[in-house]
Amino acid sequence: MPELPDLTVVSEAFQAALTGRHLTHAASPGPLAVRGTPAELEALVGQRLERVSRRGKFLRFQFDRDAIVVNAMLTGRFQLASPDARMTGKTALVLTFGARGNWAGRMAAWTDGASWLPAATEEPELRYRDRTQMGKVYLLPSGQERPVPGYDGPGSQGDVQGPDADDGTLTIDVWRDRIKRHPGELKALLRNQTFVAGIGNAYSDEILHAARLNPFRKRSSLATEEINELYVAMRDTLDRAAATLRVRVPPTFEMEVRDFLRVHLRGGQPCPRCGTPISEVSSRSEATSWCRGCQR
Ligand SMILES: [Zn+2]
Repeated sequence: MPELPDLTVVSEAFQAALTGRHLTHAASPGPLAVRGTPAELEALVGQRLERVSRRGKFLRFQFDRDAIVVNAMLTGRFQLASPDARMTGKTALVLTFGARGNWAGRMAAWTDGASWLPAATEEPELRYRDRTQMGKVYLLPSGQERPVPGYDGPGSQGDVQGPDADDGTLTIDVWRDRIKRHPGELKALLRNQTFVAGIGNAYSDEILHAARLNPFRKRSSLATEEINELYVAMRDTLDRAAATLRVRVPPTFEMEVRDFLRVHLRGGQPCPRCGTPISEVSSRSEATSWCRGCQR
């Protein structure tokens, strides 16, 4: 499942590759994944892509009038392709962009001069595919309400998502204050999008290992310094993961790179910190991996 680091890297890359280009063609070969009408999809053609951003586990494509929000769920993947590249199965959405004219959008520094960036004259394609078809693509025409469950970005209402886990406004003081209101086990807490947005099954394991905390510990049992350590571990783990992914992922944005994780899905292997074999339990096909030796 794409989580905050995966989606941050995709959004930064697509911001650099695609903004400033007009949409020349839009198709939905997998219409079941699309929330919106064919007319709404067609109405995007001719609009210029202004911004690509991430909020929690959602990607938002803001055009000069309308927007698209994607919730990739478990198996949704984004691909940047040239139009003549072979189409793989279960492609739900294809957006073809024209050449880029003068455009001075803001790009992440690491994308500067990257070899995978399409040239201004190229006409790149964004494809979204999902082998389980669980993810959803929401077309958001300007001025029209369409609920996006779990989303709380621009154009949506309510207090559905907490602050992004990497948000600058989520300071240690805000963290301490927010965590008091959320009881329960630590793994579930980190995955609770109303507490903090963007963390899923894999990175919650990684963060708790970095913090030396057992995933089944109750939040109410944490000492003040442990609450602080959890915050530091969260920021550090997500930062490092994004830095690794910026190097490892492009140009195959559709591949999920997870081989550098330290505990998640490494049951039975030695803990990289203390050497104890990593424990793993599964519920509803989702695994929790942790070290009994060094996570208390
Ligand atoms: Zn250990």
